Amino acid sequence: MMNALHTETPELLASAEKSLLFTAKRPAVVMEKGAGVQLWDTDGKRYLDFNGGWAVTSLGHSPSALREALVRQSEELVIASPAFYNKPMIEFADYLTEISGMDKVFFANSGAEANESAIKLARKHGAVNLNGAYEIITLTNSFHGRTLATMSATGKPQFKPLFEPKAGGFKHVPINDFDACFAAINDKTCAIMLELVQGEGGVYAVDGPYLQAIRKACDVYGILLIFDEVQTGLGRTGKLFAHQHYGIEPDIMTLAKGIGGGFPLSAMLTKSKFDLFEPGEQGSTYGGAPLAMACGLAVVKEIVKLGLSENAAVMGAYLSNGLKQLSQTHPIRHVRGKGLLLAFDVPDGKAPAIAASCMELGLLLHAPRPTTIRLTPPLIVKQQDIDEMLALLARAFEMNV
Ligand code: PMP
Repeated sequence: MMNALHTETPELLASAEKSLLFTAKRPAVVMEKGAGVQLWDTDGKRYLDFNGGWAVTSLGHSPSALREALVRQSEELVIASPAFYNKPMIEFADYLTEISGMDKVFFANSGAEANESAIKLARKHGAVNLNGAYEIITLTNSFHGRTLATMSATGKPQFKPLFEPKAGGFKHVPINDFDACFAAINDKTCAIMLELVQGEGGVYAVDGPYLQAIRKACDVYGILLIFDEVQTGLGRTGKLFAHQHYGIEPDIMTLAKGIGGGFPLSAMLTKSKFDLFEPGEQGSTYGGAPLAMACGLAVVKEIVKLGLSENAAVMGAYLSNGLKQLSQTHPIRHVRGKGLLLAFDVPDGKAPAIAASCMELGLLLHAPRPTTIRLTPPLIVKQQDIDEMLALLARAFEMNV
């Protein structure tokens, strides 16, 4: 429904173009309100949001758990400085270690910053325990962030020529090729860093036997195994953490996106024996601040309380089956992924056009590659939302024949 009272969109778009540094091609709409799986723009147009803020809004838009925690904590204490402990920080660290099986937490503000911390901790391990080893092996087509070091860790081919010289010490090997990984290990290797399902890379999962072989090699050589669970963590794949599908534990795990339900926040978790930083070597002004910690604690407790990992497994299977059924009549190929981190391919580089048609029809989804559409709806999504989404997707295909 268009709202006649809203007339400010053209002015807002003109101001956006005038004042915002250009970093992304954005459609000519301004988002204004969110609730559950829905978003509205400043013209009052409603969207069914199967992007979920790029795998962030696990509890949906503006969930009450987050709103209540924000209000409650902002009336108590917003920030004390990273020089002090605060109560929500301690409670959240306790809770995260309890549900993850890890021992220690470092809090930061974004996925890239959590990964940057993991890279630094791995290098510290190399310096202390492996005669100065510093190289980190990551995967081709991986995505670990947009700081200089995490762009260097990222195996996305388009990043390769950018911002040279990059941070050194990263080697990229193809996913699910243990021989290539093993061949890249030498006496300078301090860590192997992986996404268990490559989200930005097109939703490709690592195989169990491959991961087992990597875990074994890491144990034999004293190399750290880092799981970047920024996108896969906290219920997204149908388990609380994606590594639980494999029964294989990391030495370091990073979390962001869903951990704050929309509040910017991230964490790096590790085992006690890798508690290696000296004072001053790692920190962040906002990391562990009471407001962020109270929000994160409320969001993660709600994910656990509502059983959203299980809902992601059940709704993920429903969505995946729906896509497979639709593939009998529409050009949908290779439906894949785990839980509510799903993707499929479309022919002829049509993914951006189909995503644009979906948006026109009021459905948000993402085309991370010209042939791939990715779906990361909120973990609270229901069957009726999925039915609506599948009907809109079918119409979008019909607009692109
Ligand atoms: N790691 C993975 C696996 C991601 O998907 C992303 C974001 N897409 C990042 C790291 C970077 O997170 P952020 O944008 O919060 O820095």
